[in-house]
Amino acid sequence: GLSEKLNAAFKRLRGKGRLTENDVREAMREVRLALLEADVSYKVVKEFVATVTERSVGTDVLDSLTPAQQVVKIVNEELTNLMGGGTAKLAFANNGPTIVMMVGLQGAGKTTTTAKLAGYMKKFHSKRPLLAACDVYRPAAIEQLKVVGGQLNLPVFEEGQGDPVKIAENALRYARDHGNDLVFLDTAGRLHVDEALMDELKRMKATVHPNEILLVVDAMTGQDAVNAASAFDEALGIDGVVLTKLDGDARGGAALSIKAATGKPIKFVGTGEKLDMIEPFHPDRMASRILGMGDMLSFIEKAQQTYDEKQAKKLEEKLKKNSFTLSDYFDQLQQIRNMGDLSQLAGMMPGNLGSKLQGAQIDEKAIAHTEAIILSMTPEERENPQILGASRKKRIAAGCGLDVVDVNRLLKQFEGMQQIIKQVTGGRKPGFGFGGLG
Ligand code: GDP
Ligand code: MG
Repeated sequence: GLSEKLNAAFKRLRGKGRLTENDVREAMREVRLALLEADVSYKVVKEFVATVTERSVGTDVLDSLTPAQQVVKIVNEELTNLMGGGTAKLAFANNGPTIVMMVGLQGAGKTTTTAKLAGYMKKFHSKRPLLAACDVYRPAAIEQLKVVGGQLNLPVFEEGQGDPVKIAENALRYARDHGNDLVFLDTAGRLHVDEALMDELKRMKATVHPNEILLVVDAMTGQDAVNAASAFDEALGIDGVVLTKLDGDARGGAALSIKAATGKPIKFVGTGEKLDMIEPFHPDRMASRILGMGDMLSFIEKAQQTYDEKQAKKLEEKLKKNSFTLSDYFDQLQQIRNMGDLSQLAGMMPGNLGSKLQGAQIDEKAIAHTEAIILSMTPEERENPQILGASRKKRIAAGCGLDVVDVNRLLKQFEGMQQIIKQVTGGRKPGFGFGGLG
């Protein structure tokens, strides 16, 4: 995959005390090939390599980094820039319901994403979404929206196979009357971009004035996804992209090219078929993942820089021996909190662990809850969570002012974490990523 290829390119720079222009150019040749193979567009690759080369050759190497690490750092920063830099948010309306028009080709994941995103907004932004069935050409499409909406307990507005623009207008009226502050319009797609589709979407846009037009594209289609993004943006004007099926995309080309090709950011990504598998898109995290920095050793290295080296060693040992307890978890949370940039750290965790821990990593409030729960346990309970029966859990919940469900959630999360740690460290030596460079 892309990560391995980039890794190999940087490996050549290992052990070099000083980077010559030639060293950098040679490494960049491999970076270029790796990106092209990942289906990143030629123009994007060319510009990217030029920028990185320029920055790498001309700059002084920071004291704290080896030259190879310095180049990796620059590549990481430029990959992040390529994908838009920061995390893009949805624009909510100041007055009245926010209208989000979901557009895209057939099979891209519009209907699924409509439900996922609505569920996400309900859960994390306390919104009251309404889903509107504006894909009227296939009765099955309306039924599908009702099914996924139903699974998330979200209301679905439909009027059968009428005029989609009228349906959108009526859905808006319904939303205003029923206190829905967010309306998702699930529109029709075709196999290819065509005029009839664009005309219908333009008419809808001109009538309902959406706050957001989100284009849904399938990451697995690579460069085709980028072409679709350009075509929709030119014809309709889009505000952002949702990249679906990232779970099945080994190449990463679409994620890397869309912002550069259209100027429009990826706002969310779909990472699985289940309806909670949607996440805001973080360019920095994606860049780290592409670079294969998501490994435990670089996490530990980063940790070492920030806090006590001995403690990091101890953690490493514990991870290897698989004796990671709730007390250790608590220590980790404290240190992570002190390190500041949580999102950056989450991206440095091994892929699985990073996303599994995401909630705990990023959400300060969740960290505080987790800490409170662990603090309410006795030392024995922290070392042996198996002994936690109903009455102990009740006592702990009362002690920290939370519910037994919260205690159970933490225990489940912790259990999952131990299993992942087992997968990451068990049976094989942790591989060297960039943490071992130089
Ligand atoms: P639409 O035609 O654009 O409305 O696409 P659908 O929402 O019907 O999705 C098409 C297929 O893609 C369905 O089988 C979805 O379950 C699947 N799908 C959508 N998003 C994702 C995703 O993020 N990951 C995976 N693995 N499958 C997805
Ligand atoms: Mg659909």
